[in-house]
Amino acid sequence: MRFLTADYLYPLHIGPLEEGVLQISDEGEVVAIFKNRDSFLQEKLEVFKGILCPGFVNAHCHLELSHLKGFIRQSAGLLSFILAMQKRNDFSQKEIAIAIDYAEKQMIENGIVAVGDICNTSHTICQKKKRNLQYYNFIEVFGVKDEAVSQIINDAKNLRDKFRNIGFKSTISPHSAYSVPKNLMHRVADVFDEEDTLISIHMQEALLENSLFENKEGLFLNWLKSVNASSEIWQKRDTSVDVLIELGHKRKLLVHNTFSKKDQIGSNYYCTCPKSNLYIENALPDYSIFDPNKLCVGTDSLASNNSFSILDELQIIKENSDFDLNTLLKIASRNGAEALGFDNLGSFEEGKKPGVNLISQLSSVEVIA
Ligand SMILES: [Zn+2]
Repeated sequence: MRFLTADYLYPLHIGPLEEGVLQISDEGEVVAIFKNRDSFLQEKLEVFKGILCPGFVNAHCHLELSHLKGFIRQSAGLLSFILAMQKRNDFSQKEIAIAIDYAEKQMIENGIVAVGDICNTSHTICQKKKRNLQYYNFIEVFGVKDEAVSQIINDAKNLRDKFRNIGFKSTISPHSAYSVPKNLMHRVADVFDEEDTLISIHMQEALLENSLFENKEGLFLNWLKSVNASSEIWQKRDTSVDVLIELGHKRKLLVHNTFSKKDQIGSNYYCTCPKSNLYIENALPDYSIFDPNKLCVGTDSLASNNSFSILDELQIIKENSDFDLNTLLKIASRNGAEALGFDNLGSFEEGKKPGVNLISQLSSVEVIA
């Protein structure tokens, strides 16, 4: 049994406790929390400088793209990013596997305990089978043409089942409003079953996405026409969020929302990836549009980020919002655990096994349990 205490304890299901004490089992299960140290003998306590909070949840990642670190030019815009992604397979399986292993280690060192991970391939399965972290896998559907619909859905189901067959949460999810026509969006909604609890979609990551739907113009439109995309993508929708109706009544995680308006995004879960937004579009969302109890944070992939550090992401959110530290930590941990359905993570509630992070300053995190 361990009794951990620091200047402040942030249990996240209740407010911060000055000099609070966290009692955990040797396996890391929360046994109790105490409001102060008064009733404890000094030698029983492990005393830390800084704050203790539950392990972080990286709500949006593409672990399989870890080999693309530094591969894509910064600030080139989302369209250049998407086009550069076509070179993602110009690497050996070994290079890809080594990068995945290294990237996961970095997440663990940085206090991340669970991940919402986008998958277009089975490249990460080997690593995930080691069960170092908990993963919710979103099998991504990307297909701008109408004719390939059945093939795309069948491939996605096969990939989903590979993950499910080894016990992973795995849900087929659309890439975005501009890359999935209405009929494919409906098929994605149709294959959502009783094992699925959340659907993920990239939302309003670029201003060009809004121009496509709202004005039927711009570089996204030119690109879609050049690849013979289904015109239904932009003709049948007046805004990106129209796809939320096409997807029906499901719990949804809207990722990015860099160019969203408050009245558009509704009462869904949202995930911000500030460092990735700065890397690709050199822009950030207006943080005042979000319900702070529904906002999660993600690193996105190493193709658009230089580290897998939730603390680095929090720094940027802090500088660009009015959120206090307790809210920032809820964004980093509790909200993501709730959105992704990791009931044993996200707070120091009795019986959970959430991991324990020590933050001594807002630039460094240490894993305590
Ligand atoms: Zn993404």
